[in-house]
Amino acid sequence: MSIAENLAAIQHRIKEVKATRRPGEGPVELIAVSKQQPLEKIEAALVAGQRVFGENRVQEAKAKWPALRERYPDIELHLIGPLQTNKAKEAVKLFEVIQSVDREKLAKELAKVSEKMSEVRCQRYFIQVNVGEEEQKAGVLPKEADDFIAFCKQELKLPVAGLMCIPPADGPAFPYFALLHEMAKRHGLPHLSMGMSGDFEEAIAFGATHVRVGTGVFGTREPEA
Ligand SMILES: *Cc1c(COP(=O)(O)O)cnc(C)c1O
Repeated sequence: MSIAENLAAIQHRIKEVKATRRPGEGPVELIAVSKQQPLEKIEAALVAGQRVFGENRVQEAKAKWPALRERYPDIELHLIGPLQTNKAKEAVKLFEVIQSVDREKLAKELAKVSEKMSEVRCQRYFIQVNVGEEEQKAGVLPKEADDFIAFCKQELKLPVAGLMCIPPADGPAFPYFALLHEMAKRHGLPHLSMGMSGDFEEAIAFGATHVRVGTGVFGTREPEA
């Protein structure tokens, strides 16, 4: 299948699953995760009308996206990978949305650089929650999430719009989707980024507003550089 066909098939599934939710739950945005994908494939997605993309590394995004933006100014780019504090400045210039806010030091730096800089692109932040409490994964622990969310919103005045999670790879994901949904509701956060190629339908059933689909759109990734 072509990339245009993949996109159409996923949009169709999104629509079908969304129709089973309660009315008034709002739209579901497909984020095409373009990390480690060749430019021809990204171009094909753009030609097919896709405008929302996800990248997991600042350096890679910086190499790919500024040139594409010249031709497609309405692109919306999401950072979905861990962010080093010393790259905060670059990240707020490159991404419309940063989904990986996961610690106090980073949140403070993002607030600080955004206040100082004139060309800030990022207007929305998601807090990443390590829902499975996995050592190797980024994200604030569930038991610390309430305080952290409140700190970011109230103390730092960061425009926090939602939560993001990557559930453990083994076992069912729905208990984690449900947990994240509850947490977002508790804090009045409208956005929930959860669900990838293998489980985006389930995530939508549990209230996802953003699904992050990589291989399902573009096929297998190139090995990491
Ligand atoms: C790579 C990645 C995805 C996309 O994964 P696929 O299985 O290829 O759909 C989604 N979310 C994050 C955080 C990722 O790093």
